[in-house]
Amino acid sequence: MIQKSFKDKKPTLYVVSTPIGNLKDMSYRAVEVLNEVDVILCEDTRTSSKLLNYYDISKPLMSFHDFNKEAKQQSAIDILKSGKDIALISDAGTPGINDPGYELILDVIDNDYFVVSIPGASAAIAAIISSGLLIQPFTFIGFLPRKKGDQKALLETYLNRKETIVIYESPLRVKKTVEALYDCFGDRKITLARELTKMFETITRTTLKQAIAIEHDTRGEYVLIVEGSHEPIDLSMTIIEHVKHFIDEGHDEKAAMKAVAKLRGITKSEVYKAYKINK
Ligand code: SAM
Repeated sequence: MIQKSFKDKKPTLYVVSTPIGNLKDMSYRAVEVLNEVDVILCEDTRTSSKLLNYYDISKPLMSFHDFNKEAKQQSAIDILKSGKDIALISDAGTPGINDPGYELILDVIDNDYFVVSIPGASAAIAAIISSGLLIQPFTFIGFLPRKKGDQKALLETYLNRKETIVIYESPLRVKKTVEALYDCFGDRKITLARELTKMFETITRTTLKQAIAIEHDTRGEYVLIVEGSHEPIDLSMTIIEHVKHFIDEGHDEKAAMKAVAKLRGITKSEVYKAYKINK
């Protein structure tokens, strides 16, 4: 399907980004679109009412959150079928980015209606831009798995990748997450972006090792931006070169050997033998 939304007219889902804290971070176009649609889908009607009142927007709201989104999706499609336009907003930032929206977008496309993005704030982009770390390429993880084993398994898949990593985290888990990142990656640069666009915005540019020792404020919202691997490993390296590479990246010897075993798909004792005997 080729969508030309400025040329053709069809019932449309507008996916509208809203501020991540500072009410002024709203585009003229976002205000205009919210004023023009027939219904606004939002996560929490009370939260969105504050923003909509600020911009004098008064439109019917329909709650659309993680716990009712399947049921509400059909209602949204029915509204489009009746020839009306809808907008989707979330509590903050860009819908669909760690917020409801993805399945609705697919459903609207499947039903042959238009999906138009009204871009604006997203914590991930705001954080990476001020991080001082490599902007491209980056990889967006969002929230890490809660279970330690799942978290570790996921982080290990990034061990050898050069992309800067973007992680959303709750303030109460920042300390533990920084420790888990250090255990997996060794000492790399990290930027902790807290309360972006708000009164207490704080950007801490440091390293994982130093970040462990810092007392992080347990209030507010955080994005963690972690430096990627300096030199992705060439698997033609010998095991000794491979272990030394990780030591150069800030791992201790034991962690370096463990990382090599994981990446090469061999046992730790095989790495140990090759490294200890021949180094
Ligand atoms: N859709 C949003 C976006 O586009 O960024 C993200 C929603 S997600 C449920 C909320 C998470 O985003 C928070 O836990 C935090 O990690 C991050 N976040 C949102 N606003 C933030 C802010 N002002 N400063 C730092 N992090 C923020």
